[in-house]
Amino acid sequence: MTDCIFCKISKSELPSDTVFADNEVLAFRDIHPKAPVHVLIIPKKHIDSIHHIESAEASLISKLVYTAKDIATSERLKGYKLLFNVGREGGQVVDHLHLHLLGGWEGGSPDAVAPFKE
Ligand code: 5GP
Ligand code: ZN
Repeated sequence: MTDCIFCKISKSELPSDTVFADNEVLAFRDIHPKAPVHVLIIPKKHIDSIHHIESAEASLISKLVYTAKDIATSERLKGYKLLFNVGREGGQVVDHLHLHLLGGWEGGSPDAVAPFKE
């Protein structure tokens, strides 16, 4: 998509702090990190969100998760969170599918078991 910020990053039309890239996926550091280590892993192909995945593209999701695991290893994260925000009500702001890798907190995650709040 021409006006998609993550498509522009994946085509190097905008800069990013790249952690990993191959022909299918790109990983780069979040510009406003919510954890000491905050990396976004995206498919190079534009897909709006997890809700828009077609069955033929399902293997891409395991590729994103596997890439996150490899980055967690190279970043020496012993524990971490993997998060997909889906749609506005799910907290998604950028409409290009991305997996958040969050970690690196001293002594572990601040909200290991976050309670549901009304
Ligand atoms: P979402 O809320 O859509 O799941 O998360 C989007 C994430 O993208 C946010 O954490 C935000 O900080 C990050 N982000 C937005 N624009 C840019 C950008 O231009 N570069 C980078 N590296 N991250 C961005
Ligand atoms: Zn895009």
